[in-house]
Amino acid sequence: MKTKKCSTCSKRKSLLEFGRNPETKDGLSSNCRDCRNKAKNKSYQKYKITDDNCVLFLWTTFPKLKEGIEVLESWGFKYITVAFVWVKQNPKNDKIYSGIGHWTNANAEIVLLGKKGKISRIVKNIKQIVLAHRGKHSVKPDEVRNRIVQLMGDLPRIELFARQKIEGWDIIEGKDNADGTGQDIVNWINKNYE
Ligand SMILES: [Zn+2]
Repeated sequence: MKTKKCSTCSKRKSLLEFGRNPETKDGLSSNCRDCRNKAKNKSYQKYKITDDNCVLFLWTTFPKLKEGIEVLESWGFKYITVAFVWVKQNPKNDKIYSGIGHWTNANAEIVLLGKKGKISRIVKNIKQIVLAHRGKHSVKPDEVRNRIVQLMGDLPRIELFARQKIEGWDIIEGKDNADGTGQDIVNWINKNYE
């Protein structure tokens, strides 16, 4: 097994434990994933962009379910449930899309719901299943945002890593940056909240 030494924790780990970084010689980041995630969570926690009473909706996939819950908890939220299951339809017709997946043919993506403080839904009729067409890579259906607003009301809200401007929402644009430290988010907050 090929290994590499993490520049932060100094542990030798399998190459699989290192994320990609096109700017380095071997194409891998110098820090292991664990260290990257820790650094990232620290930089998020430095800034308070949430209310004491707040709900977090977090997109994830089934293989990354565990990581999704870990991220949610590291941001101070308690995992409650899966709020939405997006069942993907083919882009060109209404049939159910079928990916290859590693085991069963994967189709759905999910939105985890985490909660902080005291907050509850304002209506009782929001459905969990969202049947919507698959967009370009990783674009999520607008319907989920609509249902979040219906469920929680017209509260101040922010979308992280937004791909576009969204009416009624604050956004932090962009993808996470290559070093995985969350610097994009920090830069954005510095620019917009000071
Ligand atoms: Zn490390």
